[in-house]
Amino acid sequence: MTTVRDNVDPVEVAKFDALASRWWDPDGEFRALHEINPLRLDWIRQHVQLSGTNVLDIGCGGGILAESMAAANARVTGIDMAEAPLAVARLHQHESDVEVEYKHTTAEELAAAEPGIFDIVTCLEMLEHVPDPARVVASCAELVKPGGHVFFSTINRNPKSFAFAIVGAEYVLKLLPAGTHEYEKFIRPSELESWARHAGLSHRDSIGMHYNPLTKEYSLGENVDVNYLMYFRRE
Ligand code: SAH
Repeated sequence: MTTVRDNVDPVEVAKFDALASRWWDPDGEFRALHEINPLRLDWIRQHVQLSGTNVLDIGCGGGILAESMAAANARVTGIDMAEAPLAVARLHQHESDVEVEYKHTTAEELAAAEPGIFDIVTCLEMLEHVPDPARVVASCAELVKPGGHVFFSTINRNPKSFAFAIVGAEYVLKLLPAGTHEYEKFIRPSELESWARHAGLSHRDSIGMHYNPLTKEYSLGENVDVNYLMYFRRE
C-alpha cells in the first residue's frame, strides 16, 4: 500500500538538509540555482501573469524561486520535505521583505487535502530527487485548477547529459557538489510529457537551459539534451 508521504527518498532529503545553511550564499553550493533563477522566472512570466495568482512551489528548498515569484506579487506556498531548508526559507523571507507560506509536506499529501486550488504549480529541479516522479507529476495535475499552469524542470537522460550534468558540472567545473545527481534518476522529455499527459496535462512549451564554461553564463535555448524546462496546462 502507498501512503501520501512514501514518495520521498530520505538520502536525497538528507543531502539538502546538510547544506541548508548555505542556501542563500550566492557563491556557495547553490550558486547555480541563484544564477539560473532570473532566466527561469522570465520564462515562466512569458507564459503566465504571476501578479495576484495562487502559486504552489513544490520542492522549494530555501526559497530562491518561491521568493522571486512572491516579489512578482503572487501568493506563494512553498513545500519541501527537508526541514532545514524550510527553516532557512522562513527566516530569509523577512530579509527579502516578501511573504511566502512554507509547509513541510509532499505534493501527494497536499493534493489529497487541497486539490484544485492553485492557478500555477512550479516543480523545478526536484523530480530527479524522488523515487516515483510520475506520482509527483500526477499530484501537480490534481493541485492545479482546471485551465491552470504547471512548470517542471529537470535533467535529460542520455550520454551527453551524463557527460555534461554529472562529469562536467559536478567533477570538472564543480558547478554543483559531487553526488548532487544520479544518472538513473534523470528524466527524458518524452517520459515527462507522457506522465503529464496521463495526468491530464497538455504540453505547451519546452526549453533548454545551457551553461557556457567560457563566459561562465547560463542561457535558455532550443536544445533540451541536458537541463530543460517544460510547461503544461491542465485540460
Ligand atoms: N526547487 C528549488 C530547489 C531545488 S533542490 C529550486 O529549483 O531552486 C531540490 C529540493 O527538492 C530540495 O529542497 C529537496 O529537499 C526537495 N525534495 C526532495 N524530495 C522531495 C519530496 N519528495 N517532496 C518535497 N520536496 C522534496
